[in-house]
Amino acid sequence: MTAVVEPEPTVPISALEHHLYCPRQCALVHVDGLWLDNEHTVRGTAGHARPDSGRERWERGRRVLRAIPLWSERLGLSGRADVVEVSPQGMVAPVEYKIGTRHGDTAHVQLCAQGLCLEEMTGQPVTVGFLWFGASRRRLRVDLDADLRARTLTAIEEVRAWLRSGRLPPPVNDARCRRCQLVDQCQPELCAEPERVSAYLAEVVGCVC
Ligand code: SF4
Repeated sequence: MTAVVEPEPTVPISALEHHLYCPRQCALVHVDGLWLDNEHTVRGTAGHARPDSGRERWERGRRVLRAIPLWSERLGLSGRADVVEVSPQGMVAPVEYKIGTRHGDTAHVQLCAQGLCLEEMTGQPVTVGFLWFGASRRRLRVDLDADLRARTLTAIEEVRAWLRSGRLPPPVNDARCRRCQLVDQCQPELCAEPERVSAYLAEVVGCVC
């Protein structure tokens, strides 16, 4: 009998940011299909109204393309860029919109993944991207250098491994949980202590695990 070879899961670019924030959040969203909004996600969605419009325009001499689908066959990656800017010389750069003021390294990795897709799609190097922070109305240039590319490739493979396994990572159960929209579904405090889960199941369903 011929063994069935499962195709490798495609990694959504948005999963990278979830994974770097909390691997369990990433699995809840991208394996279990959970999504609930909280104040942070609602503000984020509102902040994407302009890039989501799909309208194309010229700004400061650059062509600005909005809501562009992205993919990489080589990396098994797919997603969408809020904005792709094309310079007069034909150089392309992804621009990611963020509602807050800082997002740390997670946003850099997400931007780099978009750049890697654009490189494969256009066949030309993509060396920089930009983060646009809505709260401060600041634009940050991010060099897509070797170090950031390496961290991005590592994150892609880590997410793919979790998608392949179909398992839920353990909860981080720290300050991140206070901002997490899935805290009620995740139950980080309960799940961080397996003995409490056993006690709960014994009490509620009479099952001792
Ligand atoms: S509640 Fe905490 S552990 Fe659970 S998914 Fe959110 S950040 Fe991760």
